[in-house]
Amino acid sequence: MKNLIVILFLLIIGCTDDPENQKGFHTENIILITMDGVRWEEVFFGADPNIITDSAMVKDLEGTHSEFWKEDANDRRQTLMPFLWKTIEKKGQVVGNKTKGSVMQLINPYLFSYPGYNELLTGFNDDSVNSNAKELNPNMNVLEFMNQQSGFENHVAAFSSWDVFDWIINNERNDFTINSGGFPLMDSILTPRQKWMNTFISDLPYPGYGTGVRWDVFTFEYAFEYLKLNKPRLLYIAFDETDEYAHQREYGKYLNAIQKLDSYIKQIWQWIQSQKHYRNKTTLIITTDHGRGKYIDGRWGSHGEDVPEAKYVWAAIIGPDTPSLGEITNADTISTNQIAATITHLLGYNYKSNQPVGKIIIKFIKPQ
Ligand SMILES: [Zn+2]
Repeated sequence: MKNLIVILFLLIIGCTDDPENQKGFHTENIILITMDGVRWEEVFFGADPNIITDSAMVKDLEGTHSEFWKEDANDRRQTLMPFLWKTIEKKGQVVGNKTKGSVMQLINPYLFSYPGYNELLTGFNDDSVNSNAKELNPNMNVLEFMNQQSGFENHVAAFSSWDVFDWIINNERNDFTINSGGFPLMDSILTPRQKWMNTFISDLPYPGYGTGVRWDVFTFEYAFEYLKLNKPRLLYIAFDETDEYAHQREYGKYLNAIQKLDSYIKQIWQWIQSQKHYRNKTTLIITTDHGRGKYIDGRWGSHGEDVPEAKYVWAAIIGPDTPSLGEITNADTISTNQIAATITHLLGYNYKSNQPVGKIIIKFIKPQ
């Protein structure tokens, strides 16, 4: 009888759907989202007055002006990213407004995508990771670290518009879901919508000059369906159209893409907060892999070692353990290499990789 009571007790404990956070945080799930190469200038000031009036940079001057121009910079940024500025800023934090003493930067000197994503996901710069080529990343990243922790196995997934993520995250070493570019989603269980997208995803033309970047709407749909079906505890979504349009010096399309991503993020967050499984137990982090140049000579479209201002980036965070400090001003400089350790800390773990990693971003977390 005693044994039966013990078994019943263990069953009841085991049945609670609240996994214990080892550090006592409320966060049980994290969604990390990146918007490739979105400048901190647009995030904090909306449409740039120089670029939006330059006919070499905007095909539809009139339409883009009426859609995105407001005299006041606060109105402009709210027009461009209404969810970021009406919800995340109110309840969370937005960092990276250099003009107000909040600096976020890359530590890698390359200032382009693969080294930026390596820094974000592994927590350090690696000088051997210095090209965008499809080479398997030798470094342990935060997704695979969490996938190895109790309660997280196969509750980690990544969806990206750029197909190089299969190499950045390393799909040879990792068997959690990584779906990217023109590749269909190969999971054994799929939603009807995912099955439908799989029938044509390899045949679509790309939005950019290069190959391997699919339209962000498909990354959003694949990931959102996955979220609803599989309830991951760490989900990474990497969007990319913004970078493509910036390289093409298509400022109107770049602004449209940013606004669209803001609406995707809103849909994800509203769904999260409508679900008992996720509500008030989920932290959302949004950032980018690099900045871009200033307006002069079209440099706003560029980034890389010869565009030093591309080292400045930004981030936004909202969740149950994050103080509502809004737009951060006059703060210590933070770096992209600190995000990985911050993610695992919020999930109750101390991040370790094959090299020393960036420190936890203290400001993102309420004192306990
Ligand atoms: Zn990039």
